[in-house]
This record gives sequence, structure tokens and C-alpha cells, in this order.
Amino acid sequence: MLEKSQEFNIKFHGIRGSYSVSSQNVLKYGGNTSCVEVRVNGHVIIIDAGSGIINLGSELVKDYIASGTRESSRIPINATILLSHTHYDHISGIPFFKPTFIDTSKINMFGPDTDNNYFEDIITNFISTPYFPINFDEIVAQVNLYSFKPAETIVLYSESTDLETKQLNYKEINELPEDAVVISCIKSQAHPKDGVLIFKISYKQHSIVYASDVEGYLGGDIKLINFARNADILIHDSQYLYEDYASSITPKQGFGHSTPEMAAEIAKLANVKKLVIYHIDPSYNDEVVEIMENNVKKYFGNTIAAREGLEISLL
Ligand SMILES: [Zn+2]
Ligand SMILES: [Zn+2]
Repeated sequence: MLEKSQEFNIKFHGIRGSYSVSSQNVLKYGGNTSCVEVRVNGHVIIIDAGSGIINLGSELVKDYIASGTRESSRIPINATILLSHTHYDHISGIPFFKPTFIDTSKINMFGPDTDNNYFEDIITNFISTPYFPINFDEIVAQVNLYSFKPAETIVLYSESTDLETKQLNYKEINELPEDAVVISCIKSQAHPKDGVLIFKISYKQHSIVYASDVEGYLGGDIKLINFARNADILIHDSQYLYEDYASSITPKQGFGHSTPEMAAEIAKLANVKKLVIYHIDPSYNDEVVEIMENNVKKYFGNTIAAREGLEISLL
């Protein structure tokens, strides 16, 4: 087993946009909606909670049960969940996330306010009757909800399950302990109607940038390019083939999603090491995703299509 300080891994649990899908033709890449697990220096960070988080929750509970023979000797589940925004495909798995059914679990969940609603209200209203038999305040685990804004930074310290959120200036970030995990975000308005948060997780000079539900701009989104500069991994929305994006009959322009070519442009201009195309349209079967993956490599060689179960190690 790796020393936890040597751990900076990502695993994909859901790679689809819009809605989940199930058929023989999507078995290679998977049919669940957005969810990525990041394990870094002993912390569990989960980005987005689409239907993919359900299988991840089962895995976490399995590990929890295996960690001790009696309840009192088990290692409680601690996780930090980051929500890019609160469209269904990014939150639909929350009610079925098994760790919330265990009273020792502690979940810190971060997401954006919208123009009209606080993040806390969006989530508590979502988990309530008549949409679900359990109200948010009946969840037995400790689930803390926090609004997350671009000016803020989340810091996860090594030996602590507690976290800090505050506005850190450049000097303060440089003075953090070397093994602190730092999470920052920017907001993109390129997703209707309330925009979306783009996350960066940094640890020991390495970083992952998660840019789902974004649409390309002419020349690339400069703010995103600067934010993702020299990242190890860029996970980028690639929902539509160009011909569907620009279709004359049912165009997808303005839906707030990208083509793989737009993702590759950002990867190139930001000089990232590896691009993962992600948030794939649920109408595309494995064959179409394979074509997307092969085509985009012409624009950015080190590209892979996300698929359920795909793991990438950064250290
Ligand atoms: Zn989405
Ligand atoms: Zn969305």
C-alpha cells in the first residue's frame, strides 16, 4: 500500500452529461452522470454527485465495514463533496449516497449559490418530501453545507479531518504546509443560467482542473486557460460532436457545453499534460465515444475519454 502522502489519484464513477443511460451499447464508457473521486494525502474529495456517486458510496461503505469488526472500531467515512452547480445530472445521486445513512460519517459539501437561492436551500429543498421520503434534517450522518465562491480557498490539512475555508492571498498560500491540499475555483458564465464552478485541486506542485458544463469561446476561455495553466490533468466538458453542436436542424450552441475540439484548444493553450474528455452526451454509444476520442487526439495527443472505473495517478 502507498504512503498516504504519495497518494494523488483520480477515479471516474460517472462520465455522462444530462441524464443517465443504460444499454448494451454504453458498457465500455458507462452510463452514469458526473462524478469523479479524488484521493489525495488521505483525503476523499468527490467532484459532482450525479448517479455515479451511488456506486462510489457503496465502495466507501464496504471499506468502512472492512475497517473494523465492531462499529466502535471502524474508521468513519469523511468526505468533501464539491458541486460545480446544481443541475440534476450533478446532484441526482446525493439522496442515494450510502455514507449519509451511517451516523459516524462526516460529509462537507460545497457548491455555488445562484442569483435567487442559497446553496444550502437548494440542497435541503432537493432532499425533501414529496421528492424523496427523507428530509435533509433526517439524514443521520453529519452533512455540512457551505456556499463556495471564487474568492475562497478550501485547505485540507494533513492530520486533520477539519477544513478551513477562507480567502487566502498568494503569500498565505505559499506559506501553507507542503502537504496541505488546496482547492480553489473560478466561475464560468458559459452555462445557462447561473453559470458553473470550475475547480482546481492542488497538492505538492501537482494539480487537477475540473471544467464540466462549459462552452468554448472564440480563441478559448482566457480565464480558464490561465486557471488551468500547466495542470497535470484537465477534465473538460466534451458533450457534443461538432456536427451536432453546429447542426442546422437542432443546433446545440448556447446549451453551455463544448465539443472535444474546444476542450483540446484549452488543453493546448493552457499547456496541460493530459486532457480527459468528459460529460459525454448520453445519446452517444461506445462507438461514437471511440470516434470522439480518436479524433481529438489529432488536436491534443495526450487525450483520453473518461470512462467509469478509469483511474489516473498523478504522483
Ligand atoms: Zn451537466
Ligand atoms: Zn448543467
